[in-house]
Formats: sequence, structure tokens, C-alpha cells
Amino acid sequence: MATITTGIELKTVSHWIGGKLLPSRSGRSGVVWNPATGEAQSHVAFADVAEVDLAVAKAKEAFPEWRATALSRRAETMFRLRELVDANRKAIAELLTLEHGKTLADAMGEVARGLENIEFACGIPNLLKGGFSEQVSRGVDVYQIRQPLGVLAGITPFNFPAMVPLWMFPNALACGNTFVLKPSEKDPSVSLLLADLVRKAGVPDGVFNVVQGDRVAVDRLLEHPDVKAISFVGSTPVAKAIYETGTRNGKRVQALGGAKNHMVVLPDADIGMAADAAVSGAFGSAGERCMAISVLVAVDSAADPLIDAIKQRMQKIHIGPGLEPGNEMGPLITGEHRDKVASYMDSAKSEGAEVTVDGREDAVSSRPGFFLGTSLIDRVKPGMRCYDDEIFGPVLNVVRVKTYNEALDLVNSNKYANGVAIFTRDGGAARQFQSDVEVGMVGINVPIPVPVAYYSFGGWKASLFGDLHMYGPDGVQFYTRAKVVTERWPDPGTSSVNLGFPQVR
Ligand code: NAD
Repeated sequence: MATITTGIELKTVSHWIGGKLLPSRSGRSGVVWNPATGEAQSHVAFADVAEVDLAVAKAKEAFPEWRATALSRRAETMFRLRELVDANRKAIAELLTLEHGKTLADAMGEVARGLENIEFACGIPNLLKGGFSEQVSRGVDVYQIRQPLGVLAGITPFNFPAMVPLWMFPNALACGNTFVLKPSEKDPSVSLLLADLVRKAGVPDGVFNVVQGDRVAVDRLLEHPDVKAISFVGSTPVAKAIYETGTRNGKRVQALGGAKNHMVVLPDADIGMAADAAVSGAFGSAGERCMAISVLVAVDSAADPLIDAIKQRMQKIHIGPGLEPGNEMGPLITGEHRDKVASYMDSAKSEGAEVTVDGREDAVSSRPGFFLGTSLIDRVKPGMRCYDDEIFGPVLNVVRVKTYNEALDLVNSNKYANGVAIFTRDGGAARQFQSDVEVGMVGINVPIPVPVAYYSFGGWKASLFGDLHMYGPDGVQFYTRAKVVTERWPDPGTSSVNLGFPQVR
């Protein structure tokens, strides 16, 4: 137990290593805030090198036995985990809301999307089936098997403390690997609840571990010789650095980064529907989603009616603590982040944009907690800070363009390429867009096109460093490596010496 300035005794969220909670000895920790009140609610341990090494050692020790466990047993374990997470949806969501701030309904949605990934992993016996070619030469068969890599690490962001770890470890474990998770230090507790459910599902001790911490823990995972692959999700500068360091150290790395997601609205779109989608996509989870709509690209005559419709809807959003029923948007993650998001209103004005709705003027912005009202910035252009940066808050930029081609060029010139949406009633235009746009995930009349668990999630350009996307079929490929076997069971009677290069006979 530790105390901080409030004088209240605060618990310290610690590690889960070798199948149990392990108090930290590092002497380093951070504060976990309650974003709805602005008060510190606990501490989180920051692992030192020795603690990371212990987690990796436990994972390495558990690997041979877990890898040898029958596929059907690993699948059975995933089915049990699925039941346990399902039964604990509310408990996970409440804990998540307490530390992250998002509304309970939103948190329940996050858990549901995480659960899909466990359901996918339940099908692992089918997913790991290899190919077999009989008689590639006389009496010779060739087949491919996929094998686990060993100890893997996952490093996750604050904005989805349940879903993003669930994007990673169910598939990793089902494939026969062992895992060390380093969750965000801003909302660390959900990881421990998940670890306990993993244990209850019958996963042997050491197969799944959690180290809490900051850069010290991440750097150690990146250089540890026994960590074979890293899945990272977070901001672009960190994703790039993790990709570069991890691959330099010989590891397989997939590093998903930040985003600036555009929603293109063509003049023929249903304006009411597009406004509903823009408001939901921009302000859900206070804009702290990597797939949030942050730029509305209004084509020609769509702009004025769309902006009016959006403004009307913005006034009706209920903002308040996430655990209070009826609220649709909660606070931001920290006071520091709230202030940074708010600062974009000043820069936008000074750079010539029009701040049509300034969230700082909303009464909610002056209540305790890290609240900020919703903002709408019109007449935004590339080169302005509010356009170029990922704001990651409840701010919707509007860029007005004259034509479809101008809209397409704008999207394709952006350095990020995570998600994009087009709203139109013209199937031909939508089909053209889907083909032309250089972005990893596309929504057609869908504002947040997060793929279901049996596809894979990933952006292009500065939104993803690596070759394989996260979860789904790419996830299984990332967490395994292929081995091709060429086999012959000859009749000894036909055997002879042949020094020629093997060829099809
Ligand atoms: P972040 O990059 O600050 O942190 C992510 C993780 O990296 C955390 O575990 C953190 O402890 C660690 N970390 C932070 N700085 C580090 C450093 N210098 N060296 C090593 N490790 C470091 O991201 P965040 O603020 O937690 O999350 C928000 C960001 O994540 C946004 O940019 C958002 O777009 C992105 N995100 C992307 C996706 C996606 O799928 N592409 C999904 C969710 C979030």
C-alpha cells in the first residue's frame, strides 16, 4: 500500500507473473487517475529489468509443456475463457470505466469486441491446418505445418485496455505460444482481471503474464533475447521506434500506430444519416479511438446542411461520468491530455480556421474531472496543426472540397491511413472509392469500420509498421512460423545412389 498527497491510502496495481499477483520491488510507480473526478485512485508499479526478466523466464519455462498440449485441449481452454469473460462482462467494463473514463455502455461494447477474438481463437484446430501435396514426385509428399514462436510480448495503449490485449493473447496462446503483456500504465487494472480469468480457464501458470510499467519495461522486452515477437498498439512515434528496435534485435514485430480518419460525404448522401454517423464516430469515447472520425470531408453542397445537422446533434450529447446512466460521453484520460486537446482551438483560430463550436465553453469543461465539451472546427486545411496532428479528443475538423477527386487526393496525401469512410447513395462512386483510396480499413456508409475478428485489423502507411495486420488470419500467421516437410518412405529394394540435383521424377 502507498499513500500520495491526498492522504488516502491507495493500492498499488502490480504484476501477474507465474500464475499469481506479484508485488513490485522496483520502488518505481505512477499514479492512476479517476478521470471522472480528477483524483488519484491508485498507483501502478513500474517494473524494473529484473521483474521483466522474471516474467520472460516464467513464460519460457512454461512454453515446452504448453506447446505440447493437444490442440483440442488448447481450444477447450479458449472456450472456457470465452465463458468466463462473457460471465464477467460487467465487472470488466466497470473497472475499465473507472480507470479510462469511457461510458459503461461503451466499455461493454469494447468487451464484446474483445470477446469476438476469443471466439475466433476457439477455432484454432481448424485455423492451424496445413497444406498437403501428395506425390509431388514418385513416392514423395510435401506438407506444411505452422509452429508457435515461443515467448511473445504485447504492449498496449490506454484507449482499449480490454479489447487490444484480447486482439493479441487469445490467438497467441491458442497457437501454442506463451505471453508477456505490458498494458498501458494509465489504466492497468483490467489486465489483472483478465489474467485471473485466464488462470480460471485452466491455462497453466507462466503461460500468460503481465508486467506493469513504462519505457523501462518496454525497452527490456525489446532487447530480451528470449522474446521472439512483439505486438504493439499505440501512437505512431512509439510504434515506429518499437518496430525499428525490435526488428534490429531480430524479432518479428507488428506495430500499429496513430490515425487521422477521414469521413467523405458526397452531395447525394443522406445528410441526416451522415450527421448521425459523424457525431457518433467523432465523439464516441471522447474521440479517444484510433478509428474515430477526426476529419469530415464535405464535398460541395453537402457542407452547409451537414454542419447544421451536426451542430444540432452535438448540443444533445450527454457528457458526464461514465458510470452515471444516461451519459453518452465521458472525460478524457488525464488532465494533461485534456489541456493539450483544448489547445487545438487556439491554434486553429490563429491559423485561420473557424472554431464553430468550442468545447471549452461547455459547462462540463469546468466541472471536476478531465472533461471537455465537444468541438467543431470548420474551414480546416492541411498544414494547420488541428489537421496535421492526431488530436485524440472530442474535436471534429471539417475540410470543404469541391469534388470527389479533391476529397480522394486529400485522404491519400495524409501520412496516416488507418480508417476511412465514404457516405453516398451512389454505389458506383463508393466502389470507385474503395478501389482508389490508400487506407487499410474502409467503411461504406459505416463510420468506424473495425473489422470483425475473422478478418484482420490494420492501417497502412504511418498507421502500421510491419507486414501483418493484427488478429484474425494475419494474427495466426504472425504468431506462428511455417515449416515445410518433404517426405519419402521408399521401398528399400528400389534405393540407389544418385548425385544429381533432386528433381521431379
Ligand atoms: P502510447 O504510444 O503513448 O503508449 C502505448 C504503449 O507504449 C503503452 O503501453 C506505453 O506505456 C508505451 N510507451 C509509451 N511511450 C513509450 C516510449 N517512449 N517507449 C516505449 N514504450 C512507450 O499510446 P497511448 O497514448 O497509450 O494510446 C493512444 C495512441 O494509440 C493513439 O495514437 C491511437 O491512435 C493509438 N492506437 C492505435 C490503434 C491501432 O490499432 N492503430 C488502436 C488503439 C490506439
